[in-house]
Amino acid sequence: VDSEVINFGGDVRFRPTRLLEPYSEDQLLAFLREHSSQSFRVMGSRHAWNEGIKTDEVLIDLKHFDEVRILNESGERVVSVGGGCKISKLLYELNKHGLTIPAIGLITAQTVAGATATGTHGSGKPSLSHFIKRARIACFQNDQPVIREVTEGDELRASRCSMGCLGILVEVILPVVPQYFVEENTVACDSLEQAFAHEAEWPLQQLYLLPHGWSWYAQRRRVYGKERRSLTAGLYNLYWLLGLNVAFVILLKLLTAVRGSKSLLRFFFRRIAPRLLITGWRATDRSDRILTMKHELFRHIELELFVRKQDALKAMDYLVDVLSAADDAEHLLSTETNAILRTHNLEQSFCPLRGSYTHDSPICLRRLLPDDTLISMASGDDQWVSISLVTYTKKRGAFFSIAEFLAKSTFLAFDSRIHWGKWFPLGADFVEKQYARLPRFREICDEYDPVGRFRNEFVVRSLGFSNRTTNIETESDATSASPGAGTD
Ligand SMILES: Cc1cc2nc3c(=O)[nH]c(=O)nc-3n(C[C@H](O)[C@H](O)[C@H](O)COP(=O)(O)OP(=O)(O)OC[C@H]3O[C@@H](n4cnc5c(N)ncnc54)[C@H](O)[C@@H]3O)c2cc1C
Repeated sequence: VDSEVINFGGDVRFRPTRLLEPYSEDQLLAFLREHSSQSFRVMGSRHAWNEGIKTDEVLIDLKHFDEVRILNESGERVVSVGGGCKISKLLYELNKHGLTIPAIGLITAQTVAGATATGTHGSGKPSLSHFIKRARIACFQNDQPVIREVTEGDELRASRCSMGCLGILVEVILPVVPQYFVEENTVACDSLEQAFAHEAEWPLQQLYLLPHGWSWYAQRRRVYGKERRSLTAGLYNLYWLLGLNVAFVILLKLLTAVRGSKSLLRFFFRRIAPRLLITGWRATDRSDRILTMKHELFRHIELELFVRKQDALKAMDYLVDVLSAADDAEHLLSTETNAILRTHNLEQSFCPLRGSYTHDSPICLRRLLPDDTLISMASGDDQWVSISLVTYTKKRGAFFSIAEFLAKSTFLAFDSRIHWGKWFPLGADFVEKQYARLPRFREICDEYDPVGRFRNEFVVRSLGFSNRTTNIETESDATSASPGAGTD
């Protein structure tokens, strides 16, 4: 092919030598055999903001693997879904049977394999990856392309969130739950502490912090006992779609495009934005209608940080302080922030960021329950809070600098992690310390993909695989070279 592949954010662009779209497993295996001297990456809906899909060799698009089958397994209903199936299609098919999936993110445009490969999540539950019961993966065994079924143990944990490093996820089996209704209403909160205090009552809630005025809002959500859509639910959806997903974002884009937009943005978030949010309106609707939004209508960039629940208050104080100083060079940092910068030797790297960037979007916080995976962001035993920093600015350099600083400094101060499907500035030197089970993950990847056919530069750099050359060695070559490495 000679066509350029571009991701949703427009920050990743490349030309693979081949873009293959298999229709069946047999054809996929034939493609793997035919191109076995090359490396492969798979793309889903290209919604990730990092170079996970990038390759200058073979790119595989699994869009024809979109079958949805509801199965009865020893009295339990589960769904088998093709890796290339979009979440929107899966939800549509399940809803016909009064069913849905146990967890869902903010949008439904991702593919099932793409979403789970990066630990995609919503609020108040584990990520979707956590729920995968079985997976089928196309990879190489004894240098021959095969489909392997993964059913248990660490192999299953690795396949649930794999960044494509085990091979090509062709099918996953997920549990299903009866369709449910969700009640929602948005309220203003005095502080993050106060918002957290209502979590038991509203377990699916997500929180928003408006920058510059630093006012908190809780989008409170809980499962509603009855299957009943409230009378004004249609109007409520329209308000979210046209008011917040379209008009609000167009306004932000206009403001960020204006020269000297700093003061306009500050004024907007302090005086106007709080008046645009309708608080106290209770709406009840089907789970997927309430829990998702049209966040994909306008191109933007996002970094998402994850901190343990117990660190969230301090981490947010730090983040607000850093963003305030990024906006206003004269801003006086708190004693706590100064102590963090001093302890971790960050004073010098922070200096040039002062006055360099004015944040232009609400900051969203979501709570994640622990994932039973090896490397998803909520893997382990803790509860996590994710912090999303979105920007609509076209001058992305300043955002990238502050986002990288926040990704590094919140790791040093709060042991944070960052989303595998969003902008990802960290290398393996950081990631290595964030995930205790990363060595086990790599071990399993080395077994499924001994010569690194399914790796690209991004996963090598971020997950710390041994490097490899573009021409793939055979397994026997690799074994005789160095153990576990598909490279030289
Ligand atoms: C507007 C928007 C809203 C979002 N909202 C949320 C949200 O609410 N919560 C959240 O957690 N994330 C969210 N995300 C992030 C998104 O869910 C992830 O980036 C997800 O990985 C995108 O899925 P995709 O199908 O587009 O995958 P791609 O971006 O195409 O690929 C992502 C990764 O998965 C790998 N992959 C894809 N298919 C396969 C396969 N079949 N086998 C093996 N590996 C594969 C790719 O190689 C790549 O490394 C959002 C992103 C956008 C753009």
